[in-house]
Amino acid sequence: MIKKKFDASIHRKMFWSDEIPNKKICPECNSKLENEYHTYVILIKNKNDVIPLIAGHDGGYFCPKCPIIVLDREIVSELALATNPPSTSFGFTSVGIVDLNAIPPEKAHLPIDCDDNPIPLVEFIRESSKDNSNKKDRGKRRNSGRKHRKRK
Ligand SMILES: [Zn+2]
Repeated sequence: MIKKKFDASIHRKMFWSDEIPNKKICPECNSKLENEYHTYVILIKNKNDVIPLIAGHDGGYFCPKCPIIVLDREIVSELALATNPPSTSFGFTSVGIVDLNAIPPEKAHLPIDCDDNPIPLVEFIRESSKDNSNKKDRGKRRNSGRKHRKRK
């Protein structure tokens, strides 16, 4: 049993750190967000491929009062880049958190996501769908007001 302060089994509304004014403050109740290491499922979209990535990172900030999670886009972006997507025009989205405690003890030795041990994924709730933006100039993106035209 992995003891976490923030229960992974709760469905949380997710925001990227750059969608809210202050990534340390809950966008709904203004509480101070708390950082905790969790395991997430990230989808990397590269042309026609979608590659799922299960990765632990400490880019998640949780609200102690409401079901809100803020993900640090830079950290997730770096994880996605670390998978070496074959083209630079990839996108990524963070679909949910993995509830490791939902894996029965007798299956704990199995690799996650094999046939006998499906991922206990708790999906995030998203209000908007601004998930796809990732450009190589991440970090500088904030300063340019230019919109990227969507391909048909
Ligand atoms: Zn809150």
